[in-house]
Amino acid sequence: MKVITKTEKARTRSKSTQSKRGIKKTENIEFIFLGGLGEIGKNMLVVETDTQLFVIDAGLMFPTDETPGIDLILPDLSYLFKKKDKLAAIFLTHGHEDHIGAVPYILREVKAPVYGSKLTLGLLKAKLEEHRIKAELREVNSRSKVKFQDLKFEFIPQIHSIPDGFAIAIHTPYGIILHTGDFKFDTSPLPGLRVHYERFADLSKKGVKVLLSDSTNADESGITPPERVVAERLKEIFVRAKGKVIVASFASHIHRIQNIFDAAKNTGRLVAVSGRSMRQSMQVALETGHLKIDERQLIDINQISSFPSHQICILCTGSQGEPLSALALIASREHRHIQIEEGDTVIIAASPIPGNERRVSSIINSLLKLGAEVIYPKEYGVHVSGHASQEELKLMINMVKPEYFVPVHGEFRHLIRHAKLAEEAGVKKENILTLENGNSFVLSRDGVSIGKKVEAGVMYVDGLRIGDIGQAILRDRENLSKGGIVFVVVAIDEFTRRIVYGPDIISRGLVLNEDLLEDAKERLTKKINQIISEEEIVDLALLRKRINDSVSGFIFDKTRKRPMVIPFVFEV
Ligand SMILES: [Zn+2]
Ligand SMILES: [Zn+2]
Repeated sequence: MKVITKTEKARTRSKSTQSKRGIKKTENIEFIFLGGLGEIGKNMLVVETDTQLFVIDAGLMFPTDETPGIDLILPDLSYLFKKKDKLAAIFLTHGHEDHIGAVPYILREVKAPVYGSKLTLGLLKAKLEEHRIKAELREVNSRSKVKFQDLKFEFIPQIHSIPDGFAIAIHTPYGIILHTGDFKFDTSPLPGLRVHYERFADLSKKGVKVLLSDSTNADESGITPPERVVAERLKEIFVRAKGKVIVASFASHIHRIQNIFDAAKNTGRLVAVSGRSMRQSMQVALETGHLKIDERQLIDINQISSFPSHQICILCTGSQGEPLSALALIASREHRHIQIEEGDTVIIAASPIPGNERRVSSIINSLLKLGAEVIYPKEYGVHVSGHASQEELKLMINMVKPEYFVPVHGEFRHLIRHAKLAEEAGVKKENILTLENGNSFVLSRDGVSIGKKVEAGVMYVDGLRIGDIGQAILRDRENLSKGGIVFVVVAIDEFTRRIVYGPDIISRGLVLNEDLLEDAKERLTKKINQIISEEEIVDLALLRKRINDSVSGFIFDKTRKRPMVIPFVFEV
């Protein structure tokens, strides 16, 4: 991997813009949001000049109960693919899934160099290998400046719930655009970390035209507590614990993983790791030097029974209650190596992401039933957010003093709240742009204005297929899971116009008792006879529809369920 520390003049793809005197200035720079506005997840921003196109972050979102059977949700990449010849580079702020998860799906279709920090690219590389994609990864650090024609990109280290993240400043002929990435201002940061206040102040002196800032915690008052609080709390819990200590955490939260290892070491515990994503991200962080552990402290998960419980710590996945995760298996007593015993302590060192509360709560109940002491963030403070709260957000705006402000990375309520904070911090109301996915703004000689709208829905990844899973299929899956399925089979003699087989009604995922079935068949027979005797020529499509309506209506009346009804009608 090549590290870029000085200004790099990238090869320009379009020679037509280069004259003998140098590079022709771009007339317009469009900033098009393909994801991350009005949602927490799948962040993606396209920066488009007259001749080139850049992507800042390309993340994904995990499915919810509303998208059954879907593996992943991606931003709508069709705008990008339409313009793929212009794509010059992808820049990544940090290694979280909601920022890098869609990159493999872009690189499947179009080649472009990817710029990011050592850890971010390390995590991306593991992902690309799974997809068998080779890519040009260019490592940047806080001293790197990357130049493409008349745009220059610089990277400012930020503190967040994953190490090695950046804010990105884009120097353009019409002013500086500063994208904060995900951040918090940790006022007592862990060793080796610091907020680069002076860099933000320096950009402010040069004049920041537009600030794009992380809105995740815009409705949290005050400041976000430092990670150090969690480190202290973990230490206390480890000292008190009598039996095994099992800690579930985010796989990418390297600082917290470090703190867990430190607390274990402090109390003479060996650490076993369970969960593929946890092992994978630890491997990357060990290679990049972001995780520092004594290898002698690590043991294999199948060795834990050879040590007394008070010498064991297990680090595992499943803090969001994910089905089949290590913690879920432990809670349901299905884990091959880990059994809960009276006196064990389970720490869930992450807050549930909205939508996951029920699953996490059910795991907590199961663990308590098995006799474990369960420690979770709400009561015990074993989690702090990686995102800035209101006072920090205002500090960022005060420090940078942008002319324009665009809240990003948040649900609509967060964006609106952040817009209010910006106003309080002195940005002119008319210069605050609250945008949604598919919206854009344009920077030119004349300043900043609202730009065009583009398609920015979602693309689904369903097994190996991308993109062609429509809303109709999702609706079908939802109906199937809620109401089951009913097949109706009937055959009609073409000449005598009589029913010669059926109607037979077969159901799956729905219980219809014998009487109800007989009643339904009787009604349906009458209905079919009526239709085929009334009409000259039997229109099979129409007949199917009538059967569908009749059976659906009848079942709904009797059971209040809406199964999917599939009629098979044959002429013989
Ligand atoms: Zn993040
Ligand atoms: Zn994020």
